[in-house]
Amino acid sequence: MNIRQEILKTIETRPLADVKKFRKVSSYFGDNTFSVPTMKKHISKKTFDAFMAWMEEGRQITLAQANEIAEAMKTWAVDRGATYYTHWFQPMTGMTAEKHDSFISFAGIGRVIETFSGSKLIKGEPDASSFPSGGIRTTFEARGYTAWDPTSPAFIIESKLGKTLCIPTIFVSYHGYALDKKLPHLRSIEALSKSAVAFLKLFGNKNVKKVFSTCGPEQEYFLIDKNFYRMRQDLLLTGRTLVGASSPKDQQMEDQYFGSIKERVVNYMYEVGEEAYKLGIPLMTRHNEVAPHQYEFAPIFEESNLAADHNQLLMEIMKKVALRHDMVCLLHEKPFAGINGSGKHLNWSMSDDKCNNLLNPGKTPEDNLQFLAVLVAVLRAVNQYGDLLRASVASAGNEHRLGANEAPPAIISVFLGEQLTAILDTIEKGKKTKISREDIMNLGVARLPVVNKDMTDRNRTSPFAFTGNKFEFRAVGSSQNISTAITVINTIVADSLDDIRQKIEEAKTSKDFNTAVLLVLADVIRQTRKIRFEGNNYSEEWKKEAAKRGLPNEPSTSEALKALVKEEHIKLFEKYKVFSREELKARYKIWLEMYIKLLEIEAMTLSEMVNASIVPNAFDYQGLLAQNLQQIVNLKNSAGLKLLDESLEDQKVHLSEVTEMIFYVRKNTRAMMQFLEETRDLEEDEKARRYFVDLKPIMEHIRKHADLLEGVISDEHWDLPKYREMLFVK
Ligand code: ADP
Ligand code: MG
Repeated sequence: MNIRQEILKTIETRPLADVKKFRKVSSYFGDNTFSVPTMKKHISKKTFDAFMAWMEEGRQITLAQANEIAEAMKTWAVDRGATYYTHWFQPMTGMTAEKHDSFISFAGIGRVIETFSGSKLIKGEPDASSFPSGGIRTTFEARGYTAWDPTSPAFIIESKLGKTLCIPTIFVSYHGYALDKKLPHLRSIEALSKSAVAFLKLFGNKNVKKVFSTCGPEQEYFLIDKNFYRMRQDLLLTGRTLVGASSPKDQQMEDQYFGSIKERVVNYMYEVGEEAYKLGIPLMTRHNEVAPHQYEFAPIFEESNLAADHNQLLMEIMKKVALRHDMVCLLHEKPFAGINGSGKHLNWSMSDDKCNNLLNPGKTPEDNLQFLAVLVAVLRAVNQYGDLLRASVASAGNEHRLGANEAPPAIISVFLGEQLTAILDTIEKGKKTKISREDIMNLGVARLPVVNKDMTDRNRTSPFAFTGNKFEFRAVGSSQNISTAITVINTIVADSLDDIRQKIEEAKTSKDFNTAVLLVLADVIRQTRKIRFEGNNYSEEWKKEAAKRGLPNEPSTSEALKALVKEEHIKLFEKYKVFSREELKARYKIWLEMYIKLLEIEAMTLSEMVNASIVPNAFDYQGLLAQNLQQIVNLKNSAGLKLLDESLEDQKVHLSEVTEMIFYVRKNTRAMMQFLEETRDLEEDEKARRYFVDLKPIMEHIRKHADLLEGVISDEHWDLPKYREMLFVK
């Protein structure tokens, strides 16, 4: 038995985790968070009121008040067993980062007490000089600061032997440039709020003070046994399999999607749920996905900044809890070739401070007119800035998924459904005369809410689909921080709300309001026609049709990222104070660098796997074949063994084939290493381009021959866990 087969045996005997005592979720939801109600219990009314005024109207609190909150937060955390605190932030490289400090300070010789001050709560200075800044921070002024984000509650992370108080923060350079993903996200919410409040005012909603984006990200993932993971350098170092022959059965029967969830996996889901609920993450749905051993968690939607924090936390919980069940949670967008990858459908909408969803069709003609105007503003945003949306989801991992057979292509289009399409068509055709309340009713608009919910056609192939009362952006990758996509959506929608509001204001000087609105909308509907597509986005015809319409289809990450630094986009982000020019350039640079580094790691890993595992395995098997053949020929000659000429020929052919596969794998691997050497000193733009155009095909080529070898080499000689094992042994 080889090592792979030994592992298979251990998995079969894995005991299931014991069932703990069940608790009602409502009895412990948010227990590990210093939420607003918890804070209220621990601080004076005056300070609490000041805190709420800060949240709602942006009036800063005093240092004394911050001190009081810090003291309360510390007491709460220490009472629960926390010994350390950390400023928790989201650097541009996508993970979350922490630097832990103890609460202790000296209180006399050899004696310590737990302390925590307002200034430490508000501002931290992590030794974070090694986080990439894209040139924003030169090394001689390497300081970066974290600053408390009071809109997201502090929380306690538990590990077996201790607890840490985590304070959500932004991360900025000495000169105030955003070095993270949270600050631009917060800025984009402000920009959206301003534009949306002005927009609503025009429609007669004068009392709205604030509008914010709401999000519910649907998180897909794979689980595999921990031992398989450890045996695969590629999964360990890159999160995806670089070689691996397809399993004869994978997702053809869709029996995973419709089947019941296996007990080991359900146990895992229970525990993820419990950990999430303690942190106030409102997990709602859990189910199997299409590919074998693929699953999904979806929360109830929240204000987008909170949703983003919660999604980052959830991903960490998912990974941590998987290990407790002797499994590994794979968040990569394409861990296995040939079957579905994982995305993170981002459900997005806007809400006013009275919790009215701006994308909810209303009950009166006036409400519906406003709803249609908001909807058309989103259309304009996607039409005008599709390339920015594409850039917001550009990554090496997602590059494997977009445009593969299970995910929307890199072409950004919008799906609205039959009913809305009909309504927009009617508006587009326009009416010459004055438009009355009845006319709006006659558009069918007033009846929208009744039919809307259950009539919404589920076009699962559209990258940007209207699903009843929200849009669903389906191009986000499973491992990505949703903040970047939200930041872009918020900004481009803010811009479109402003644009449409200004046009209506102009038009209404000569027409009545309803007529003015419908005339402006008709214009925008006409101009954005090309972005709307109701058919199958996965089809070849759509690719052709999209090209005809002039829609960009950018499969390459590095090319897609260029949209971030297009002059008109820099101007847009500067106008809305979401990103400065420097901040955009830094992001472009960092994300390009990440792409390059990831591909280099993949190439080096593949080379090692070929040289240290696949080829030696193949040599063993080749030796076996050669020996066998030799013995048969010997027997034929010495003992007159009777053989069909053809059967001897067949064995020779097999040996030649194996030898040829070994040759190609080795030859292409050498070519790959030589390619890396040759391109080493290229400028980053050019290097990334060459990696996409040349390196990836070489890697695919190596894989093709390695996978052929896997198909013929005896099971006994193959060390790498196979697809069928990783995906079906549960
Ligand atoms: P689906 O049919 O796409 O699964 P669901 O109703 O289950 O639709 O919702 C999917 C996700 O969308 C959930 O996370 C849900 O909370 C979220 N969602 C629902 N309404 C909104 C909204 N107004 N804004 C943002 N997300 C929303
Ligand atoms: Mg969905």
